[in-house]
Formats: sequence, structure tokens, C-alpha cells
Amino acid sequence: MRQLHVFFLPLMAHGHMIPAMDMAKLFSSRGLKATIISTPAFSEPVKKAQHSGFKIELITIGFPHRDSGLPDHIVSLDQVTSDPKLLPMFFKALSLIQQPVEDLIQRLNPDCLVSDMFLPWTADSAATFGIPRLVFHGTSYFSLCVSEEMRRHKPFNDVVSDSEPFLIPNLPHQVKLLKTQVSDYNLHENKDDFSRWIQQMRESDARSYGVVINSFHDLEPDYARHYTHVLERKAWSLGPLSLCTNEIDGAKHQCLAWLDSKKKPNSVVYVCFGSMAKFTPAQLNELANGLDASGQDFIWIVRSGGDEEWLPERFEERMEGRGLVVRGWAPQRAILDHPAVGAFVTHCGWNSTLEGVCAGLPMVTWPLFAEQFFNEKLVTEVLRIGVPVGNKKWQRGANEGVSREAVARAVRGVMVGGGAAEMRRRAADSKEKARKAVAEGGSSYEDLTALIQDIATYVPPKKMVCSFKSD
Ligand code: UDP
Repeated sequence: MRQLHVFFLPLMAHGHMIPAMDMAKLFSSRGLKATIISTPAFSEPVKKAQHSGFKIELITIGFPHRDSGLPDHIVSLDQVTSDPKLLPMFFKALSLIQQPVEDLIQRLNPDCLVSDMFLPWTADSAATFGIPRLVFHGTSYFSLCVSEEMRRHKPFNDVVSDSEPFLIPNLPHQVKLLKTQVSDYNLHENKDDFSRWIQQMRESDARSYGVVINSFHDLEPDYARHYTHVLERKAWSLGPLSLCTNEIDGAKHQCLAWLDSKKKPNSVVYVCFGSMAKFTPAQLNELANGLDASGQDFIWIVRSGGDEEWLPERFEERMEGRGLVVRGWAPQRAILDHPAVGAFVTHCGWNSTLEGVCAGLPMVTWPLFAEQFFNEKLVTEVLRIGVPVGNKKWQRGANEGVSREAVARAVRGVMVGGGAAEMRRRAADSKEKARKAVAEGGSSYEDLTALIQDIATYVPPKKMVCSFKSD
């Protein structure tokens, strides 16, 4: 069989780029040619992977700042999520890269596009060139099912108050949410630029060949089935992608040495909220006090907060030996895999959630925005490997509202509470299943085999055939 060539088009955001890179590495390890198309700001991690011996190609295209009106320093979605002025410019910039990408498709003739969901126009590009487009949402089956059932049935219209939970219909489990835990774009379809963009994404999904999912069958079998059989989507589970690449990041970071000094297994709580979360200073202060009150050892990664005023007085000094505050970017996967780490306080971003599963860790769930409140339900009520901190408010920036008592209660609950041992056992079970899924002959391994076959034998619908494609 000739070598298949796949273009990966990730969104410019850490949480999207990381799994897309992993997927490219995975495809390449199975003999395909994988090319990542991205902007200069995201070329570093790809170059690093190339340096470590991964055979992935990189093509950079300029991010059209001038034509979109976007300031030059904005290079990633992480920087604009809570800014209503910049967000539409960012989307404009994303739509302006259609032409350069199509020029590349014409020149290099790939056999398939794996596109981030935030690039809906790639459905048109794929159709123009008669190649399949695979969408990557970067989330769980569970959250895709919740979101789609909500869109179809609008169960939130049945409740009169924000404090009244509504049931998501048709799902295999009884899942209830509050209106305040759901995004505007889930509640109102045509409200603003962002919800219109989401609408375009949904429409482009329907015009795609299928969906690639960073999950594995045994993690959420009911929802994999619901998605493919009830919602009738074509999907391949390829995850956990973080396990497919065997690359441990940042092996020399200071916090790993700190963890090495902790000899008791499962004794440290790791606290991190991904790449985009923003808390108010008051909330950071409350979180610090909650960690203190929990009595547990911890590593806390802080990405927002600016100056130090939000820390309680002499906090780091008082916590010395017990708690470590790390500012900036941490080697999360290596931390989660460290034997001293015993639980994960997470915002339920899907990459983090799945990395927690892969490390066999019970979690404290503290969702903030995006589809994180859905993932929380999967962790706490379906998988039953987590304790919710009790956040009730969906918010992109300036998050607050969780008390120190709630933090301390949830952290103690997951570490030493009544159900903690059972949760830890279930989490360990999921970890083992995750490894089996990606091993040769496992469900994700076989799904990729089937997908490669599907790409190799793809025949475009008649009207899609394009004169550019030579073979
Ligand atoms: N991450 C990391 N170090 C950090 C913060 C985040 O390595 O200090 C990684 C984390 O391991 C995960 C990704 O960044 O792979 C975050 O993705 P997720 O979907 O959890 O959240 P998002 O950042 O998209 O909100």
C-alpha cells in the first residue's frame, strides 16, 4: 500500500494543540505521513517532538493579524477567550487561513484532513479536493452526547429558576445540570458571534466523513454507543492519545525533585486548572486557605493571579515542606504519573481529565467553562472517581464562588473520605483499561487500523470529485 499522507489542522490553543500533536505522532508511528499545519507561535512543540525522533512534518503559515484586525501579540485562543472584542477577530483570522491551507492541499495532495472543530471551513476544503475530513473536538463522547441531546430537546426551557436542575433526556444515565452551569452558546443558538461560530461548526460536522475521539471504548462504552448508534455519528476512538506517544515532558522540573522527597505513595494532591483558567484574587486566596485547611500535602500550579497579594500571609513559608506553589507551566503528565501524587484537583478540561484517568487518580472536580461541567458529571456520577467541589457557575474569566470549606471538604473527601478507597480502586481500574486500549490489539489500536483502511479506500461522493486530485 502506498504511504498515506494526513494533514493535521489544530486550533491555536494549548489544549487543542497537545492532543493534535499526539495524534500526529500516533499516525506516524503506524506508518502514515503526518503533517501539522500551524502558525509560527506553535511551531516550537512540533520542532521539539521532531528533535526527540518523531517523524512528523511541520508547515507554518502566517497568522493574518493585519487582515483580521487582531493585535500582533495575540497568537492563541487562550489569550482571547474572555474578551468579546478580540474573539470575533480571532475567528476572522481563523477563516482567513482557508486560502493558504487550500494552496497547500493543492500542492501536496494529502489523503485526509484531520481538522479541529474550530475550523469549520475545512469541510468545504475537503469537499473541494475530494478527500475525507475528520473532525477533532478534543472532548469526551459523554460531553458530545450531552451537548447534542441538549441542542435537540432544550430541556433547560422546562425549568423556571436557575437553581432548579434539569434532566438531559435520552442519556444512559440520569444526568442533571443547572442553567448556570451551561454556556450561553448551549442555551441560545444565535445570540452572538461565538454561538454563530459554534452553529457553523455543528453544520460542518454534519458534512464531514467522521469524528476522531480522544477517548477509549471501555471508559465510556454507553456514550460511545449512544454517539454512534443513537446520534448516528461515524466515530473512531483513538485514545488516550497521551499514552500513544510515550513521551514524558519536563523530566527535570523542580517540582519533580520536590515530589521525589515525598516517600509516601499517593500522599500529595496535584492542583492545576489547565492553560486558560482565570480566577479572581479573592478566589485564589480562598483556594489557598482551603488547601491549607485540608491538611493534605499539595502541589499547586498557578497560571493567573499577577502579583502576590492574593496569597494568605506567609503562606508559602508556612506551607514549606507541605505545599508547593508553582508559577507558570508545569510538566503535568510527569507529575500525575509520580508515585507520590494521590489525587488531582482539575477543571475537567478533557485532556487533563483523561490524563488523570491514565494516571489512575481520583479527582476533585472544579469545572469553570467550555464543556467542563459535562465532563465533571462523567467523572463524578458515571465513572464515580471524583468528588465535586460544588461550582455552580459557568464563566470564562474572573472565576470565583467556591469557599475554602468546600475546597477542604472535597480534597479530604478524595484523599481520606469514606468512599476514597473505592474511588481509588475504580480509578486504578480505568488506568489499566486505558493501557490495554492503546496496546497492540486493544480497542483504540484496532479503531486506528480500521480508520487507516477507511482512508485508504475512501471514495468521494460523485459531486465532490475535483480535478486537482491526480490519483
Ligand atoms: N498542561 C501542562 N502544564 C500546565 C498546564 C496544563 O502540561 O501547567 C497541559 C495538560 O497536561 C493538558 C493541557 O495542558 O494536556 C490542558 O488541556 P485541558 O484540555 O485539560 O485544558 P485547557 O487548557 O484546554 O482548558
